[in-house]
Amino acid sequence: MTQSVAPRRVAYDTEEFAPSPADLPDVAAAVSRETPELPVPDATRVIVIANQKGGVGKTTTAVNLAAGLAAGGLSVLVIDLDPQGNASTALGVAHESGIAGTYEVLIDGAPIERHVQHSPEAANLWVLPATIDLAGAEIGLVDVPGRESRLLRAIERLTARHRIDYIFIDCPPSLGLLTLNALVAARELLVPIQCEYYALEGVSQLLRTIDMVKGTMNDRLRLSTIVLTMYDARTRLSAQVANEVRTHFAAETLPTAIPRSVRVSEAPSYGQTVITYHRASAGAQAYLAAAEELARRGSTAKGRR
Ligand code: ADP
Ligand code: MG
Repeated sequence: MTQSVAPRRVAYDTEEFAPSPADLPDVAAAVSRETPELPVPDATRVIVIANQKGGVGKTTTAVNLAAGLAAGGLSVLVIDLDPQGNASTALGVAHESGIAGTYEVLIDGAPIERHVQHSPEAANLWVLPATIDLAGAEIGLVDVPGRESRLLRAIERLTARHRIDYIFIDCPPSLGLLTLNALVAARELLVPIQCEYYALEGVSQLLRTIDMVKGTMNDRLRLSTIVLTMYDARTRLSAQVANEVRTHFAAETLPTAIPRSVRVSEAPSYGQTVITYHRASAGAQAYLAAAEELARRGSTAKGRR
């Protein structure tokens, strides 16, 4: 790896978890042509990643699928809709309080392209960052006209001018106005399900919310994809949960389950996805496989490009 990679961490120079240049991983691997070119969808696929349970792998799945698709040559935008800004962190973009991003788009009606940042994780990967200020948007939106469709309008304006293959919207763990904006803006819902006890708890509530949104605000929304996360091959429980999910959601569940992996959980503390942090790890390979499955499914549903 050459020194040209060093500036990619400039945003973290003053932060205590900044890796030294010697620790920087081989980012070139992420944009190499090792990964086969993935199929390009006919139109932008807008995918909301939601599950009102916290800690099930929403953000991890959003950033790693995004990085996997971008590594496969596709153009990808991640919209961080969680005031915690975990997706912004993992994708290596600045999101301190005061930095413009999702808040300005939702509340002020700013165009998305004005506030996106390029992620150092891949050539064609962009992020609309979230700061803690976004926590106020849940209340700030209440008095804004068309409050449920602010994100939809912003995405429509963006995609009318720019060719983007995938837009992932990473939701907070709640079913408030922020998540509602995402459900109204998206065509596809992707639900990560953690292979643990009570995995399906909350999924039925989420599905009822989807039905409500479909019936009133967004007819086009459909549950397209389920990703099994934190699968532990050593436990019978993981296998049981995975079987149960595959029985309930046979068509939607991706064949690849994401294994529980220390590399996956370490990557965000370096401001990275596992795809660049440790591409050879089981977690990175699983997310690359899942990204490819997602891309191929989308293209067979739509026909060849
Ligand atoms: P959510 O966005 O749903 O709250 P996260 O993606 O932040 O969930 O994941 C919750 C925690 O689990 C994080 O600390 C994350 O690093 C960890 N995690 C997620 N997926 C994995 C995995 N496959 N292996 C190990 N840890 C994981
Ligand atoms: Mg999250």
